[in-house]
Amino acid sequence: MAAVGIMAAIVSCSAQPAKKGPAICAHRGFWNCADAGHAQNSIASLKLAQEFGFWGSEFDVHITADSVVVVNHDPTIGGMIINTSTYQELLKAKLPNGERIPTLDEYLEQGAKGGTMLVLELKPQANRKAATKMSELAVELLKKHNLWDPEKVMFISFDYEACKWIAKNAPGFTNQYLEGNIEPEKVHADGINGIDYHFIAFHKHPDWVKRAHDLGMSVNVWTVDTQEEMKYLIGLGVDCITTNEPLLLHYLL
Ligand code: MG
Repeated sequence: MAAVGIMAAIVSCSAQPAKKGPAICAHRGFWNCADAGHAQNSIASLKLAQEFGFWGSEFDVHITADSVVVVNHDPTIGGMIINTSTYQELLKAKLPNGERIPTLDEYLEQGAKGGTMLVLELKPQANRKAATKMSELAVELLKKHNLWDPEKVMFISFDYEACKWIAKNAPGFTNQYLEGNIEPEKVHADGINGIDYHFIAFHKHPDWVKRAHDLGMSVNVWTVDTQEEMKYLIGLGVDCITTNEPLLLHYLL
């Protein structure tokens, strides 16, 4: 979609969340916002997701060598490894649109301005110590920005130990495991209250949606970009679809 097209879509897209079917979660801030001049996982992309009125906006965090939590999808930026670089060093790198890598502190400042659910992905880190430090700092920053609220924030991770840490330290918050390789009963037994699996997992195990729901777990699915897949997952009754094409899902619902 060209920049003009996406701005026209902002005007025509309802600010109301979906009335039926799954909630819509924009991937990496708002993935497609590059066409509007923003980079994925940038503060500008989050702002755009909020302006569209999507239910949720997902984003990824890592921790630097000097314990600054930053928002970025990959574990590297500009050829630098985030875990082994200081925040000052990372500032040499730029996002594709010229912005610098946002800190979680800066990102949450924008997050607190909108009603869109912040879907915070705790990325796997180099070691357990770094991963735990990152989770602790994320909790501190959420509290600082008055976002320590299950209605405003939820957690997802591929790191099973990080999910277990959240279960213990953020009870009451939606906390979903991402990998898609563990059946809901086992995840539930470890105190994790949701799953957010790739759509392929729900082709292999369509019964996992009901089995998770029967345990009171939430069920999200990523990253679903075609109408065919969306229709299949709506039929399975998933709670939320994370997508690079949120407008496609919006108009389908
Ligand atoms: Mg992510």
